[in-house]
Amino acid sequence: MQSAWSDEQARATVENLRARDPRCNEDIALRVYTSRLIGREPQLVLHGGGNTSVKTTWVDDLGEEVAVLCVKGSGWDLGSIEPRGLPAVRLASLTALRGLASLSDEAMVNATRTRLLDASSPTPSVETLLHAFLPHRFIDHSHADAILALVDQRDASALCREVFGDTLAVVPYVMPGFDLAKLAAEVYESNPDSEGLLLLQHGLFTYGDTARESYERHIRAVTKAEAFVASRRPPAAAIEVSDPGLSYRDFAPCLRGRLGAGQRRYVLTARGGRRVRGFVDRADLHSVARRGPATPDHVIRTKQRPLVLSAPASGSTWADQLESALARYREDYAAYFRTQVATVGQNKTMLDPDPRVILVPGFGLVAAGPNPCAAEIAADIYEHTIAVIEDAEAVGAYRPLDDTDLFAMEYWSLEQAKLGRKPAAPLAGQVVYVTGAASGIGAACARALVGAGAEVFLVDRDARSLRVVAEELHAAWHPVDVTDAVAVQHSFDLVVRRFGGVDGVVSNAGTAPRSPIADCSPQLMQSSLDLNLLAHQVVASEAVAILRAQGTGGFLTFNASKAAFNPGPGFGPYAIAKAGLIALMRQFALELGDAGIRSNAVNADRVRTGLFSDEFVVERARARGIDPARYFRANLLQQEVTADDVADAFVWLATAKRTTGAVITVDGGNIAAAPR
Ligand SMILES: [Zn+2]
Repeated sequence: MQSAWSDEQARATVENLRARDPRCNEDIALRVYTSRLIGREPQLVLHGGGNTSVKTTWVDDLGEEVAVLCVKGSGWDLGSIEPRGLPAVRLASLTALRGLASLSDEAMVNATRTRLLDASSPTPSVETLLHAFLPHRFIDHSHADAILALVDQRDASALCREVFGDTLAVVPYVMPGFDLAKLAAEVYESNPDSEGLLLLQHGLFTYGDTARESYERHIRAVTKAEAFVASRRPPAAAIEVSDPGLSYRDFAPCLRGRLGAGQRRYVLTARGGRRVRGFVDRADLHSVARRGPATPDHVIRTKQRPLVLSAPASGSTWADQLESALARYREDYAAYFRTQVATVGQNKTMLDPDPRVILVPGFGLVAAGPNPCAAEIAADIYEHTIAVIEDAEAVGAYRPLDDTDLFAMEYWSLEQAKLGRKPAAPLAGQVVYVTGAASGIGAACARALVGAGAEVFLVDRDARSLRVVAEELHAAWHPVDVTDAVAVQHSFDLVVRRFGGVDGVVSNAGTAPRSPIADCSPQLMQSSLDLNLLAHQVVASEAVAILRAQGTGGFLTFNASKAAFNPGPGFGPYAIAKAGLIALMRQFALELGDAGIRSNAVNADRVRTGLFSDEFVVERARARGIDPARYFRANLLQQEVTADDVADAFVWLATAKRTTGAVITVDGGNIAAAPR
């Protein structure tokens, strides 16, 4: 690994940060600079892992200069850290804690929080005391892959001495907290010439007088580990990958529907690069994958072990295989929980027993999370775990933490806090496919669904406007003309790739062709039927195939129109297709109720969208005998109906568990259009 230090960049970072905040001194600015260098290298840390600190001075509210430890705050990622992500804690009273015989985790958090100079700071890292008890000005901590390949070994101490000599001192595994902080300080004091500490089954600390010294000692240690691992790696052999006979489009919904026991929804992400494929085809996969995560932090993202599937025997399917393997996994997890609870004698509530990483021979890995970000994090972590396992096996035998230490970490209150405890939004984890999402009611639905916690996949044939909406919402999108059945099918392949499945559809795309019915050309009639009726059947049917594979119900919602019940003169091509759409909605409701799939429609009226040009409004108002100025308020409540009002109805239908075959009217009151 190369040092990424640059004098020029370091200087620029210092100038930049100090210009923005004069209270940010040079120590803190350089601490930010090298923390980012570490955080941006995935071979060192992943997704919020690792931590760094600097001992410096700060002026308190009495104007006095006090010695402080600025240490990474929880919730910050080293790669994008800012000075406020390194809260300042009073150093003298922090180091005084070392005199205590013991300190519980909760008391330790309280001790760090009550010594903050700024009460609004994030909580300092759980490894704050370790940073405080070491005397060095700059300290860097990572979970570098190459280091883990050496410290996750049966004979890790001897191996570490062989590779690093006396440069790095070895600290046996102790869970992060007060005891580890004291032990690390003692090990350092017995090895005062060391450049850092190797924490067995955990990671690497380095220290130095300057930001550059500590950082470059870190890079040097990792490079040494990399070279050693490379010298032990067997010559690269061609990877033989098997053909799983598995279609992800079929497999993913099947898996997704079986996770979470109907209580929680997960989204999935798949990885199948050559390295992953080679790993899942290892003959000893069951053995190596069951040994556990490479560093304790990872357990909350990946669980203590992945679910390893075996290829189905002939006559059996992947779905059958999955069913029995999941049942076994849950039993194993419950047994692990019971054994560990009995061992530690504490009162704990079991977390959900489902896997976060699923290894599929011949295919690759599938990661699950409550949202796409969590699924990607689990997948990233496991890809690095694969590298660590393979390197550790090349060096000796991969041996990470045992179940007792893993359990302590998985059920550690401070670690659980990292996952956040926000109450779940009504559509959390649910994936909704929205058509005509580039503007008007479709865009409003997309916003409202995201507001209710859903993951959305947006389609429209207007790619440029769609992109604007998708970027605003950080949503997945794809340009699709819904009258093209092949394009619709392909877009659902993308939904499965992105999320692992789907939970509902807002079938909204439409147009408003006008013509007196007796003069309507067959072409105009056909094009209205294609978009306003037939395309809805294609979209809904693609969704139904996935919903059936999941077996967890779902919802279809259609944007109909008051024209279905109260047609207006000269608007036949539109009204006829929309009347058919109500029939289509009812047919889906009738035929899919036993699969738990609900089908409903929203009837909106006179919503100001792109379909309503000024000329169109005047024409429709005349046709209905209404003053054009009052057109949008010509209803019983005399209120204009907005796209957001309509979107609220769609969100309600998405969550209305006991409603199917219904038409919800959002029109401010139009008695002539009341469904009958
Ligand atoms: Zn750590």
